[in-house]
Amino acid sequence: MERRNDLGRGRLRREVRTFEAMLALFCRERHGAGRGALCAACDELGAYARERLARCPYGAAKPACNLCPIHCYRPEMRERVREMMRHAGPRMLVHRPVLARFHLLLDARRPAPPLPARGERRGGGGLASDS
Ligand code: SF4
Ligand SMILES: [Zn+2]
Repeated sequence: MERRNDLGRGRLRREVRTFEAMLALFCRERHGAGRGALCAACDELGAYARERLARCPYGAAKPACNLCPIHCYRPEMRERVREMMRHAGPRMLVHRPVLARFHLLLDARRPAPPLPARGERRGGGGLASDS
């Protein structure tokens, strides 16, 4: 069975939280969603991004997705994430300054390490985005 990353701890947890905060902000401002709610399209995008993170072969050592040589996102989803980030990125500093600073300082420019060999993911089950 394919191994999945634990999104509930450490760095990956922070990536999920940041992504979800950006998506919620985007959906509220662009699609009129209420607080705590997402439209169907953004809900789909969030589920897709979580699944990508859970299956990311780098595990907790993952680079920023925009610097990743694998680019595991489907082109359409990648474009949708880009659009969302373009909108929400600058606003995060106002709405969620702590998460935004963590993201900018620790995650957004992280380069890709060598790809771990199969079955040797760093951070493994207990490990724990980008952008
Ligand atoms: S784009 Fe790269 S870093 Fe991002 S989830 Fe996919 S494989 Fe991991
Ligand atoms: Zn939406």
